[in-house]
Amino acid sequence: MWKCPKCGRTFKNTNQEHYCGEAPKTLKEYIERQPEQAQPYLWQINSTIKSAIPDAVEKISWSMPTCWKKHNLIQFTAFKKHIGLYPDPEAVEAFTGNIGI
Ligand SMILES: [Zn+2]
Repeated sequence: MWKCPKCGRTFKNTNQEHYCGEAPKTLKEYIERQPEQAQPYLWQINSTIKSAIPDAVEKISWSMPTCWKKHNLIQFTAFKKHIGLYPDPEAVEAFTGNIGI
């Protein structure tokens, strides 16, 4: 666990890139704060997740958009030059079915 000295929030990774202001409360708020060029990708990831796991709840956890069903199923976050996607094994299974691996 790493605590940001500027905003006091804690993260899994040391020096985690994040927005130091008040944490976004909704997925929409989160995405709207990201660089303009990243936003279409983030919305696309969100809709892909929603169609794969339609009964999951959308929330913010660890300051990241999170797909939740009794626990965090899949989370994603925008960085300067990439998007991080953090699925748990159940989410991997859901997507494996969808893309036919
Ligand atoms: Zn901070």
